[in-house]
Amino acid sequence: MNRRDTLKTLTLAGIGLSLPLPLLSKDNKDSNSMDIYRQNSPVYHFKIGKFKATVISDGQSLFPAHPLYAVNASKKEVAENLKAYFLPTEEYLLQCNSLLLERGTEKILIDTGAGNSLGDGFGLLNKHLKLLNISGEEITSVLLTHCHLDHIGGLMVNSKPSFPNATIYLHEKEWNFWSANSIDLKSMPIEQGFRDNFKNAVATNLIPLNNNIKTFRDGEEIINGIQVVAAQGHSPGHSCFWIKSGSDSLLHTGDIFHHPAFDLKNPYWATAFDQDAKQAYKTRIRILDMAVAERVNVMSYHMPFPSFGHLTRKGKAYGWLPSNWIIAE
Ligand SMILES: [Zn+2]
Repeated sequence: MNRRDTLKTLTLAGIGLSLPLPLLSKDNKDSNSMDIYRQNSPVYHFKIGKFKATVISDGQSLFPAHPLYAVNASKKEVAENLKAYFLPTEEYLLQCNSLLLERGTEKILIDTGAGNSLGDGFGLLNKHLKLLNISGEEITSVLLTHCHLDHIGGLMVNSKPSFPNATIYLHEKEWNFWSANSIDLKSMPIEQGFRDNFKNAVATNLIPLNNNIKTFRDGEEIINGIQVVAAQGHSPGHSCFWIKSGSDSLLHTGDIFHHPAFDLKNPYWATAFDQDAKQAYKTRIRILDMAVAERVNVMSYHMPFPSFGHLTRKGKAYGWLPSNWIIAE
């Protein structure tokens, strides 16, 4: 997809707003100003008991701050929130971060990035895996929080499976919804062309891997130490994963929330991608309260890299405390 196509397909219905993608791309005229950032590592390592965990960036791009990530808030409210977080008030930097878990010969990947489904700026997961000297063939399992295009887009590259030896795990409700003959995305307040992008991403990336797919249910321990936490709303079978090893644990919250200035500060704000916004809100509150009460480490797919930290609550608002970035020397 070239830039013009991306702009065209991401135009929002009824709002007349085009997403200025990809402002961070290589062909942007201000590209040189990004060079210093290209020296930063796109991977971050930490441990969860016996798991070696690595957050791997799939990339980033700028989106208009309103209304995509707060469809039921005013532009002014969003701008005020972003200003309070010392962020640009018009644009929001969307990041996608996969999690790799290694234990013995197991190499488990949670979500696969956007591939080429969101235009330039994303689709870097495979390149960044190579930085770790890990090939796609070595991945033993892929766990999907859900099947939105920014999470499944890396499953296939040029019509070939990126992880040919992996079993792909997803919730049975998610599989049933996306593999049906008719996929109804009308509840998402986006233009039909954008909805079609979601369907195309599933047809291109997920359906061809039918034989490698294994479905799970709420509460199931899919792999030793990795348990499903029911989290439906954002999509019909959206799931969180609770990863436990010894006394360590990490709750992977998928797309329960997207950014501290949006649905953490105002958890009733819905994104345009919440397929059932009411259910998504209930789920958000339930999971956030659980994470706060348990004081558990949290990884969230769209939080600023390395998207790893803790949650707090003050009144109705939640806060995000990024974990320390630990260096060896
Ligand atoms: Zn997402």
